[in-house]
Amino acid sequence: MFDIKSWIRPHLLNLKPYSSARDEYTGKEGVFLDANENSIGSVGGGEYNRYPDPYQYAIKAKLSEIKGVPTNQIFLGNGSDEAIDLLIRAFCEPKEDNIIILPPTYGMYQVSANIHAIKVKEVLLSEDYDLRPEAILDAVDNHTKLIFVCNPNNPTANSLTINKIEKLLHDFKGVVVIDEAYIDFSSQPSFSKRLSEFSNLVVMQTFSKAWGLAALRLGIAFASVEIISVLNKIKPPYNINLLTQKFVLEALTHASDKDKMVAEILENRKWLAENLLQVPYIQKVYPTDANFLLAKMPKPKEVYQKLVENFVIVRDRSSVRLCEGCLRITVGTKQENQILIETMKNIKL
Ligand SMILES: *Cc1c(COP(=O)(O)O)cnc(C)c1O
Repeated sequence: MFDIKSWIRPHLLNLKPYSSARDEYTGKEGVFLDANENSIGSVGGGEYNRYPDPYQYAIKAKLSEIKGVPTNQIFLGNGSDEAIDLLIRAFCEPKEDNIIILPPTYGMYQVSANIHAIKVKEVLLSEDYDLRPEAILDAVDNHTKLIFVCNPNNPTANSLTINKIEKLLHDFKGVVVIDEAYIDFSSQPSFSKRLSEFSNLVVMQTFSKAWGLAALRLGIAFASVEIISVLNKIKPPYNINLLTQKFVLEALTHASDKDKMVAEILENRKWLAENLLQVPYIQKVYPTDANFLLAKMPKPKEVYQKLVENFVIVRDRSSVRLCEGCLRITVGTKQENQILIETMKNIKL
């Protein structure tokens, strides 16, 4: 069993969190003279003069129904990036502890660790972009607190092998964070269904990709009650603003729209993968379980540049280890994908 008391940074065990006015009195009715808000109204119209719910209970109740995870095992952050940052702050002592990341992978784990002066150990994925659990467990030392696993992985687009993730969860005594930003596009089930099996598991999801709400900044972490309590204790008190809370609450009642968009993106993904293979200089299109594709070619930087000249912007990942020669391409609309393919076919190298 993962015992949070031996993993959390010791000074946080007895930390007294900021107690907001909305923590101390949680009733809805009353004459509110407790938070120094503007009692008259909001400049610009609308009712935004009151501080929002610090724990976003309404969203969590709805999300709990949809995801089948109890509300006290859900944390909401200002983007997944806030959850990443708080996990590092909760478990890692600056200049002492380390995290393990599995390149090629999402850049924020490293940046967040660097900001907090936390060492980062890198264990490359295999040539076919899968986990190497033995190598990862070999890299673990007494100061390794977190392992970040991105599944499906960004920028390689594939899903990792489930039993290799399970091995990490079983054999690593610290926290395994599974970043499922792209899980809606994947054929694999979410690990959020398995929180009761693994007390050291954190699953992150986001409203930025399948839900199409990147601009709102809302990320989710699912974990044990103990881990979620720590995140709640150290987060900025009102980390999710009211506009976001209201909008997402409404969006959650239209979850089938998300499913429809995902279905369309998956169709477009299939078309794009097939047509990329028709571009003469493209050597390989990697298997994808996400809303983007990784394509390999001999002169990626020239292709990237020519695309930019034609106002088509993709992500050059060719300088990333194990992604040599690769551009990362987000699946667009049918029309955008056609423009990309036509432009690519017109590039003479
Ligand atoms: C896009 C992405 C996210 C989303 O981050 P937000 O801060 O929620 O927008 C998280 N993880 C990965 C791997 C991503 O690619």
